[in-house]
Amino acid sequence: MKIFECGNCSNPLFFENTRCEKCGHFCGFSVTDLKMLSFVSTEVSMISDRERRPYNYCKNQQFGVCNWLIPAEDDREFCEACALNRTIPDLSDDENFKKWQKLEVAKHRLVYQLARLNLALPSKITDEANGLCFDFISRQGDVDIMTGHANGVVTILLSEADSVHRELMRTQMSEPYRTLIGHFRHEVGHYYWDQLLASDTRKLDAFKKLFGDESLDYGEALNSYYQNGAPINWQQQYISEYATAHPWEDWAESWAHYLHIMDMAETAHFFGVSVKPKLSSKSLRGAIDEDPYTVSRFEKIFDRWMPVSFVINSLNRSMGIPDAYPFVVSPPVIEKMRFIHELIRNGK
Ligand SMILES: [Zn+2]
Ligand SMILES: [Zn+2]
Ligand SMILES: [Zn+2]
Repeated sequence: MKIFECGNCSNPLFFENTRCEKCGHFCGFSVTDLKMLSFVSTEVSMISDRERRPYNYCKNQQFGVCNWLIPAEDDREFCEACALNRTIPDLSDDENFKKWQKLEVAKHRLVYQLARLNLALPSKITDEANGLCFDFISRQGDVDIMTGHANGVVTILLSEADSVHRELMRTQMSEPYRTLIGHFRHEVGHYYWDQLLASDTRKLDAFKKLFGDESLDYGEALNSYYQNGAPINWQQQYISEYATAHPWEDWAESWAHYLHIMDMAETAHFFGVSVKPKLSSKSLRGAIDEDPYTVSRFEKIFDRWMPVSFVINSLNRSMGIPDAYPFVVSPPVIEKMRFIHELIRNGK
């Protein structure tokens, strides 16, 4: 993600901030300009310091889960990210409320990234045929409810926002990585498969060449994966074991990793991170000198991101915590991500 600054005093701001720590001005995120705007007060319509226009906060600001802005002349109650919520938990339950807050942090970061990729994201509440919506729910005895995607509805189980439960699931499923942002990125990948590929035979043919035949029975494929696990040497073709279950899952996993890499590359770029290790080989040198969202060749983004990911993993190991990016990306997986990168860029 980009680094933001206060419009009043230029202090750096995090994406989630509602106030500048230094000058105390209120602030909020404008998704149309991809900028943080700052305000002297939050009375009625706030006037931004930067461009003197009036704004209101999204209605979810009152719960501390959203700092996005809506131009005052616009009568929407919810911002672009919150308008996607179809079901939110019962907020009178404190535990649920805390989980919802965590889900919203991940969801807003997802929606920011989709905006950076210029991907359309209509709400299913107003566009039943092509929209997307989120159901944040708990299982309450109904064991059939799972985190997943179906026809533009992304369901995320509230229990995934509980770090103890998530770590337990991660160990049980032998996953090296399990996070809320990872869930969001994966599930929204299924939605974009429908939007970008499903009705285009030429693109589908290209998809099949890389990911395999998606007409394979999905239920059977998943059963077989849960019974037999991933084939040996899966790392040579896939980003994760789960990606081997079915071409749709391979797509959603590769899509999620594409988004991971783009976000890390963007953050590194805006912080001016460059890597020059004290090694005789020059292979790990690099700097992300361009904003990755403006780069047409995915291989270029990948090559520049690779040394940075090595540094981040090494820093994490210094602190005794797991690698930030615990995956090996093989050449066929880079090909899959290149396909996704080009599909998104050509769709613009
Ligand atoms: Zn400030
Ligand atoms: Zn909002
Ligand atoms: Zn999936």
